[in-house]
Amino acid sequence: MKTVENYNFSGHKALIRVDFNVPLDDKFCVTDDTRMRAALPTINKILKDGGAVILMSHLGRPKEGPTDKYSLKHIVDHLSKLLSRPVKFVSDCVGEESKEVCASLQPGDVLLLENLRFHKEEERGDENFAMKLAEHGTFYVNDAFGTAHRAHASTAVIAQYFHADNKCFGYVMSGELASVDKVLNDSEKPFTAIMGGAKVSDKILILEQLISKADNIIIGGGMAFTFVKAQGGKIGKSLVEEDKLQTALNILADAKKKGVNIYIPVDAVVADNFANDANKKTIDIKNIPDGWMGLDIGPETEKLYADVIAKSRTILWNGPMGVFELSSFEHGTKAVADAIVVATKNGAFSLIGGGDSVAAINKYDLAEQVSYVSTGGGALLEYIESGSLPGVDAIEK
Ligand code: AMP
Repeated sequence: MKTVENYNFSGHKALIRVDFNVPLDDKFCVTDDTRMRAALPTINKILKDGGAVILMSHLGRPKEGPTDKYSLKHIVDHLSKLLSRPVKFVSDCVGEESKEVCASLQPGDVLLLENLRFHKEEERGDENFAMKLAEHGTFYVNDAFGTAHRAHASTAVIAQYFHADNKCFGYVMSGELASVDKVLNDSEKPFTAIMGGAKVSDKILILEQLISKADNIIIGGGMAFTFVKAQGGKIGKSLVEEDKLQTALNILADAKKKGVNIYIPVDAVVADNFANDANKKTIDIKNIPDGWMGLDIGPETEKLYADVIAKSRTILWNGPMGVFELSSFEHGTKAVADAIVVATKNGAFSLIGGGDSVAAINKYDLAEQVSYVSTGGGALLEYIESGSLPGVDAIEK
């Protein structure tokens, strides 16, 4: 894997695709700068070598071209503080002004280009637009794992305009790829994949892949009820995908054939309403009365899952075990997070990825106590599903 570590950037103008798609409050202050901080090692390495840095990113989903709300100008001061140096900004990522400023950059300078998605050509993967961006720099670095599953102009198409020796991954990308490769291709056994979240339909491809890789698959969250119903259980008004009942049975049969243990919850915390103050009780997951819905795994399931996790040497966690956003139904998700922390302390490698499990691990302030927290939900899942990503292939081919 070619990373910034392998190059000296002295005299280069490194065009870095970062993921600065950060949340802003109503005063346009950055409320979570995790993604910005994640890019600092790559930026600082290049500056330390004596290079100049040109940063390009998207922010939000602007529909109609330039929109103040989505301007990256709002994050310039924050970035400048993080880097302890001034950050220049141009109000269009292509065009005369950006060309002039890029041409005048000196070693140690940092320039942030305006939101790439103000041009529709970005998401279309337009070659001409990608070429204009490429002209700004002498070296292309992709450090935006969160968008590596998109074949956009700045994430993939642009790479063709740089010689093989003048493009590489940043530390975020290389760290992400190393950790997911370790889990998928070089895992110490037993390897346990924990899958939760709302829908089976979102996770079918990934489950199919994991059946060929994992020793244990633990299922939780809303998606568990499709499995329970497919096996003849009564699930009340729990979340279910009627059209995926057969898929659930196929997954179970395939796992059995391949000798993979699939764990489905045995008990559930059910509620009479989707609300934190709903009436709730813990019951057998196969006998949920009409009018009640399962919103979390129960204590017996927690114990069963904690035992499996404790015996694992490699752990992948994607998706919460219940509606963890509501404190009444977060216990199962927290129990799984705690079990992963204990297993990690005992030497297991744990990768947490996919939006809501990352939100959960952060909610419980446990991110520092697992091996790796992925910054790219969709990209991670797509990499597991297909084994490649457009942003990765573009650098490697
Ligand atoms: P996903 O994005 O597919 O990982 O799904 C995450 C969402 O699933 C979270 O917002 C959870 O609140 C939700 N979820 C988890 N368990 C349940 C459940 N038993 N019923 C309804 N929603 C759930």
